Amino acid sequence: MEFDDRYRQVQRPKYECLLFDLDDTLYPLSTGIATACLKNIKDYMVDKLGIDKSKIPDLCNLLYKNYGTTMAGLRGIGYDFDYDEYHSFVHGRLPYENLKPDPVLRKRLLSLPYRKVIFTNADKVHAAKALSRLGIEDCFEGIICFETLNPTHKSTVSDDEDDVEFVGLCNTPDIPATNTSASTEIFDIIGHFARPDLGLALPKSPIVCKPSVDAIEKALKIAKINPQRTLFFEDSVRNIQAGKRVGLHTVLVGSSQRVKGADFALESIHNIREAIPELLEDDMKSEVAYSGKVAVETSVTA
Ligand SMILES: [Mg+2]
Repeated sequence: MEFDDRYRQVQRPKYECLLFDLDDTLYPLSTGIATACLKNIKDYMVDKLGIDKSKIPDLCNLLYKNYGTTMAGLRGIGYDFDYDEYHSFVHGRLPYENLKPDPVLRKRLLSLPYRKVIFTNADKVHAAKALSRLGIEDCFEGIICFETLNPTHKSTVSDDEDDVEFVGLCNTPDIPATNTSASTEIFDIIGHFARPDLGLALPKSPIVCKPSVDAIEKALKIAKINPQRTLFFEDSVRNIQAGKRVGLHTVLVGSSQRVKGADFALESIHNIREAIPELLEDDMKSEVAYSGKVAVETSVTA
């Protein structure tokens, strides 16, 4: 038994990287940020895109369900808008004052001897602001955000991965917005789902985001992350399931009910060590090692 413990100590740790979603994962849903964000998205659709108010709830549901984010869906069905303007409208008026410094989380993160990377569908301004409000902005090696996966504006998203950089705080080159798509043809997604027998395919969105497997694979490639040796923390069940499909170890945050695709479930990110049994084993091992040492010394002096 002692032998086994010693042997296991020289084995490499199971994980080398912790990958974190940001919103509703590193802070709780009760902050009201998500609710305010959804309201801003709906306001943007009415005020800026001129969509009929009565269609908003159905449209939001369908776009979110089928495209990953409402924003990706809006682009998919043919709306054209500036990504930065969208983000500043949707995130600019969020109640950031509800995000308070979290010294407990900060201490826990800093105690974990792994690479730590943020992976969010949000833009870099929001990510930086939220992390800094929580007082944990320096706990991560980098941020994979909207701009990382969508480095160019509009419908001219580049396939050339050489021009994608994973830098400290997701610095991306400033590429001027270009008005490439002047299309006014909007795909009727509500009608589409009301008549599923027509067999029409949904138009594709140029926006890359979770939970698409492509988005997750692209993120892992950019940050040079091996999914088999990474724990992925997320509050979204479908993102957890997509993460599982690409081989990540998964931790559902915000609920203690484990769902299909989740290896662990944590009510709060504060319980993070519970999702990393090897750390708990290490804690126990150091206790075992200590008592073992005492035992040896005793036998020598005996
Ligand atoms: Mg989230």
